[in-house]
Formats: sequence, structure tokens, C-alpha cells
Amino acid sequence: MTKDNSKQKNTDVTPPPNFIRNIIKEDEASGKFGGRVATRFPPEPNGYLHIGHAKSICLNFGLAAENNGTCNLRFDDTNPTKESVEYVESIQEDVRWLGFDWKDRLFFASDYFEELYDFAVQLIEKGKAYVDSLCADDIRAYRGTLTQPGQESPFRNRPVEENMDLFTRMRAGEFEEGAHVLRAKIDMAHPNLLLRDPTLYRIRKASHHRTGDKWCIYPMYDFTHCLSDSLEGITHSVCTLEFENNRQLYDWVLDELEVYHPQQIEFARLNLTYTVLSKRKLIQLVEEGHVTGWDDPRMPTISGMRRRGYTPDTIRNFCERIGVAKRGSTVDMALLEYTLREDLNKRAWRVMGVLRPLRVIIDNYPEGQVEELEAENSPEDPSLGKRKLPFSRELFVEHDDFMEDAPRKFFRLSPGREVRLKHAYYITCVSVVKDDRTDEVIELHCTYDPATHGGWSDDGRKVKGTLHWVSAAHAVRAEVHLYDHLFTRENPADEKEGLGFKDYLNPDSLATLSDCMLEPSLKDARPDLFYQFLRQGYFCLDQQNSTDNRPVFNRTITLRDTWAKINKKKK
Ligand code: ATP
Ligand code: MG
Repeated sequence: MTKDNSKQKNTDVTPPPNFIRNIIKEDEASGKFGGRVATRFPPEPNGYLHIGHAKSICLNFGLAAENNGTCNLRFDDTNPTKESVEYVESIQEDVRWLGFDWKDRLFFASDYFEELYDFAVQLIEKGKAYVDSLCADDIRAYRGTLTQPGQESPFRNRPVEENMDLFTRMRAGEFEEGAHVLRAKIDMAHPNLLLRDPTLYRIRKASHHRTGDKWCIYPMYDFTHCLSDSLEGITHSVCTLEFENNRQLYDWVLDELEVYHPQQIEFARLNLTYTVLSKRKLIQLVEEGHVTGWDDPRMPTISGMRRRGYTPDTIRNFCERIGVAKRGSTVDMALLEYTLREDLNKRAWRVMGVLRPLRVIIDNYPEGQVEELEAENSPEDPSLGKRKLPFSRELFVEHDDFMEDAPRKFFRLSPGREVRLKHAYYITCVSVVKDDRTDEVIELHCTYDPATHGGWSDDGRKVKGTLHWVSAAHAVRAEVHLYDHLFTRENPADEKEGLGFKDYLNPDSLATLSDCMLEPSLKDARPDLFYQFLRQGYFCLDQQNSTDNRPVFNRTITLRDTWAKINKKKK
């Protein structure tokens, strides 16, 4: 992935070509599907959606919208033990939040269970499916390997009537789990292992979140998926590359049943550096408490990113930017962050918040006086207007903005040095108060120059440093969460030397600052707005207060990619 996007023109009118858009164009020209474009996004409700899914969502809903087509949201819910209503609901919320609308096209594979059962019966009647009574271990052992053909099950040649009888009784609940399965009768020596008599149905005595206890046999994903696409009249069944081998099986099923045949098109799944995009892995992070939940702001889930302060636009723009290709690659997280900053820069309200406060007393400012200074809300968007900022004798500045023995190029506060307080005045540090015992700096005494009102001087005197600050008496106390990558390695899923992805969790991925001082306008902060704390990054209000009932602000992202810089230096 290159970081140079300057060559990509991004307009709403003509989206840049990609190989799938080209296929659709060709199909429209040749009239292959009667000019119809029907896509679908088919999640399994066994976890929350992540940014990889967003790529698929943008692609499927995008292709439909560009071509006056339709896009279904279909839950592939064939595995009752791993699925739940919570996941079904979160997935709908996330797709909607991303800005896509499936209208009345919400489907569940479980709604097709009866039809799927009938399809299975048809295969049995055709002599193309049989009930196998081998145990799971034997089925696996009989499958063979890439270099060795499999072995036929002794039950493979059961007569049709016996298969029908057993399958009917499987449905009726007469057998225990694992006693029998229904398998397709294809070829135990097939070079594609997926076609060595794949399982079509298994017994699962589990309640399903939609069908309850109606069923105790459940169709396998592969059998369900291709038939669901067919039943829904999907034209372009877009999926990720790992399903390339499954296509042959889908073709077999659809051809044997002589039903409508969608066209499957595979594309490369999204991989991102410094994170994992697999529900199987993400669920471990949640269940083992490595994160606070699916919506932990460090998670690459849509809900985590939403809570972190990502916008749907950022995610959609990112998905357009990375494009779709046939070959797998890993996208640099920095590209996602670049897209995020670009978006937030336009939206964010500029405010001031001091994360590690140091008290400043302005000795020559009258005690008890409060001045209302004016500050613009955004240089990028004048329509956001201005706000009042109270200034008074006691302020907070950032602890890092003071250094007692400062080098010459430290353009911040130090005894004798003058700086600008943003929107306010020039101040000069005159003395330092320290804790007797620890020698820690606890307070600065400064003087201000009344002639520099608004932060400007008429006499041409220049200061190099501009600091953010808040008035102590007016400050809003808040908790701030700073985030870093969830993993320390670019590719945590690359499991080497006996280490797994969880061995690469970053112990410093979250820093909690519990006593931050924010400007008073943030008393009315809204969870749907975006804030730039000057010099500190982009922040958003969390939906939950801290344990001591202070508002919590999540840092969405720093202003510049300091992390990459620091990392380069370390090397
Ligand atoms: P995971 O590996 O996270 O479990 P999955 O493929 O099993 O993902 P599904 O719920 O089956 O999860 O995915 C729904 C759709 O999203 C599928 O069409 C799948 O191909 C697509 N998808 C999943 N992960 C990615 C990804 N990283 N990039 C692009 N598309 C993805
Ligand atoms: Mg899947």
C-alpha cells in the first residue's frame, strides 16, 4: 500500500475503477443478469463487526448504489452455539451507523431452514447425499490429505430409502449429537479437499436465537451460503479470497439442485498493521478481559472505533482509498490515521484542555477579576463562530510546558522566559514554588503584559511559544484516556517461536489521566461532537463518566504521527 494518494481522484460521480466494478460493467453490457445488480453483506452473528467488515459493507452497498441495484443484509446464522441476538443487533447498528440502508431487505439464513431441508432431501433422492455414521475423528481421518486421496466411508452406499429414513429421524431428534451427519456424495479423491464428501447437516441439540428449539439439525455454512445467495437472487456474490476453494463446492450444490446461480467474486480481505481482524481473536480479547469489551476504544471493531471518535466518513473514505484487489496485502494503520486526521481537522471544535496541570499564579493580575476573552471555534470552519474564555489570576498550564533548566531552544515556560497564552496575553515566568520534601515543581509565579490582550503585541516583540491554558476557578475536571496501538508488532497474528498474538499486546495501549483541567465550555460537551484540544490531539466525550463521576474524554488520535517518529528514533 502506498501512502501517496494524490493520484487517486475521489468524486461522488465516477468512482475509480476496480476489478469488481469492471466485472459488473461487463455484465451490464452483456446483459448477463438482465442488467440487474443484487449484492449482499452476509455476516455471521458470532461477534461484533470490525473494520475489515466495513470494507465488505462499503463494497457491497457501494456496488448496489452505483448501479441502481439492491444490497441485502443477511445473517448467516447456522451455528446456534456461537451466535446471539446481541450480535445481530450490534451488526445492524453498525451497518446503519456507517451510513448504509438495507431498507426492507433484512434476511436470515435461518428463515430458509425449511427450504434448505427440502434441498437436502432432493440431494438424497438424487443419490447425491448420504447419512454417514462415522464419528467426527474417523471422518477427518478418512478425508486424506493434499497428497493422499481420501477413503470412502462404509456408510457411503446406503440406499436412498435408508438415507431418507435416517435423515428424517435426525430431524425428529432421535439421535445424539455426532451420531450421524448428512454428507454430499461427491468424490473422496477430489483434489479440492472441500469436495471430498463435505458435511451438509449436523445434529446440534442447541436452541437457536431465532428458531428456538424447532430444529436439532443445522445446515453447514457452505451448504447454506450458496443456497441463500441463490434464493435471494444475488447477482454478484462478493466474498473474501479464502472462499476461492469453496466456489467449486457452491457450483456443485447449485448445479446438482438446478437452481439459479449467482456469480461469486473473491477479493482480498483487509489486513491492518498493529491489530488483528478476526472475530475468533477479538472474542478472546473480550472474554479474557484484555480489553473492556467489544467497544473498547482500542478495538478495531466498528463500535470501538465509534467510541474512540472515528466518524463513518473516515471509515468510508478509508475503504475507498484502499480499493479492492485480488491479491492480499496489509494496509498501514498510519493510512487510516491520516484519513482520520483529515476528517477531524474539518469538523473539530478547537478548545483547550490541560492534561497534566501545573498551577500558575499571575502576580500582577487583580485578585477576583475575571475577564471574558474571545476565541474562535475553528479556523477551518468560521460558521462555528466564537466562544468566551474566562481568564483570571490563577491558571493551569501543561506540566510539560515548564522546564527549570531549559535548553536554549525550549520555547515554553522557564524562569525569565516569555510565552503567549493562546487567545489571552504574554506571560513571563518569575519564580517557581517547589514541594519541600520532594523538590517537585508545584506552582509557577508569572507576570502578564496587559498590552498583549488577545495574545498579540503591538511593539513587534516576538515570542516563539504559544501555550494552552485554563482558568483554575472555571476549569472542568475530567478524566482523559490516551491510546496507543493495541499490539506492539506490525503483524501480531504472525505467530512465531511459540508466541501467539496475545503475547504482543501492548501494555501501554491505555493511559488514564484522572485529573485533567478543561476549559469551561466543555461542561456542555456533546458525545456527537469532535474536539481538538490544542496541541494535544483530537478528543471525544465518552458515553460513560468515570468512577468518580467526572466526564471522560477519549483521545481519538494525536495531531501528528508522533508514534511513528518516536519509533524511527528508537531503531
Ligand atoms: P472473521 O475472520 O473476522 O471471523 P468472517 O469472514 O468469519 O470474519 P463473517 O461474519 O462471515 O466474518 O463476514 C461477513 C463478510 O465480511 C464476509 O463476506 C467476509 O468475507 C467479509 N469480511 C470479513 N473479514 C473481512 C476483512 N478483513 N476484509 C474484508 N472483508 C471481510
Ligand atoms: Mg465467515
